[in-house]
Amino acid sequence: MYGRDEIRKNITRILSELNGRAELLAATKTIPADIINYALECGVRTIGENRADELLEKYDAIRKEGIEIHFIGHLQRNKVKKIIDKVSMIHSLDSYELACEIEKQAAERGLRMRVLIEINLASEPSKSGLPIEEVRPFLDRIRPLTHLIPSGLMAVPPKTDDPEDNRKLFEKISQLFIDILHKNEDNREWRYLSLGMSGDYLPAVECGSNLVRIGSAIFGPRT
Ligand SMILES: *Cc1c(COP(=O)(O)O)cnc(C)c1O
Repeated sequence: MYGRDEIRKNITRILSELNGRAELLAATKTIPADIINYALECGVRTIGENRADELLEKYDAIRKEGIEIHFIGHLQRNKVKKIIDKVSMIHSLDSYELACEIEKQAAERGLRMRVLIEINLASEPSKSGLPIEEVRPFLDRIRPLTHLIPSGLMAVPPKTDDPEDNRKLFEKISQLFIDILHKNEDNREWRYLSLGMSGDYLPAVECGSNLVRIGSAIFGPRT
């Protein structure tokens, strides 16, 4: 992990590269709460955690005024009730069963949860996410779940050495995002395209991403 000066410089640089085109979400898995709070002092407004247990461990120590905590990792159904009142968006909705559990837990607490549909861009069987052609039928299917707010799309593309390699995939998902936006003109909540990580956030933003999830380019390599 980098030192504080480096972290501050990285955040400042990334915010200026994004130049208001996309919101910066700091991916904070393995990062201790005091460093997360430092990143928040440096201008980060949204953080994303991957594991329910890790979020719960750090939750009390994370500064919360004016910030959003998102859940970005694969979410097991039995963990939904632990995190539902601690996050303001779940990026990783990828099954009807998970949707039903979020619906149930949100309804019990009288809240509505913003969710992004996770797409498996390269149809890699090892990864979570829905095949791109299943997204529209899935949206139809979850429409009756009124405590869910379908708010956009998310994907974790395959790792590559060249950030340009994923441009075609980004363009495809961006087109689907726009198509759905135009079909649902009454749906003002459909607004997030969560694409782009440390290695490829600039091509992702050029393809229309408006929410980038960046970990190692801020905090350094994870150990
Ligand atoms: C870890 C993680 C990121 C950030 O990855 P980096 O390559 O370190 O920027 C983004 N999204 C998800 C879902 C992650 O798990």
